[in-house]
Amino acid sequence: MSTLIFATNNKNKVEEIRKLIGNLFEIITLEEAGIHIDIPEPHDTIEANAAEKSNFIYQLTGKNAFGEDTGLEIEALNNEPGVLSARYAGDEKNHQKNIEKVLTNLRGIENRRAHFKTIISLMLNGKNYMFEGICKGTITDEPKGQHGFGYDPIFIPEGSNKTFAEMNLDEKSIYSHRRKATDQLIAFLLN
Ligand code: IMP
Repeated sequence: MSTLIFATNNKNKVEEIRKLIGNLFEIITLEEAGIHIDIPEPHDTIEANAAEKSNFIYQLTGKNAFGEDTGLEIEALNNEPGVLSARYAGDEKNHQKNIEKVLTNLRGIENRRAHFKTIISLMLNGKNYMFEGICKGTITDEPKGQHGFGYDPIFIPEGSNKTFAEMNLDEKSIYSHRRKATDQLIAFLLN
């Protein structure tokens, strides 16, 4: 079985992607690889930050690796928070405060359309490949649900009437941006 390092410290992302990949490939987290660093996200696009993560780990270890970067783009806020999704309300990366800031900025605004965008960047034998997953939906007026992470409590994907935080992982994966990008990664690797 091929082995890939997943360049993240986010346990929710690891859980989601491991469940999707099953035992097709072995996924090793940064912690399991003995790499105890927070990889910087210095760029102004989701694509460049995803590439930074995979390239950083490939340079460091010489091993095949992938990175993933996700942003929530809200139409009425000129696609904010976008690349700043993790730090929207400040460098402490507090999910609660990020949600509050989104809801405050959208107060009184009728257009609630938004989408999540995930980019997976793969470094395989020295070459870089990118995969994208988009999930369209709407932003609620208030947080609902206890599952998931990040903006899950305020995002309802198209085709459902529940927020991601009201769904278990299997249900979230029916709609999710991360699932769509991971499907492409899997299809590529299986070829
Ligand atoms: P990053 O990809 O780790 O930089 O995450 C960007 C921000 O988007 C963080 O605040 C995450 O919590 C949030 N985020 C990433 N993926 C998801 C998701 O699937 N649901 C909700 N929020 C997410």
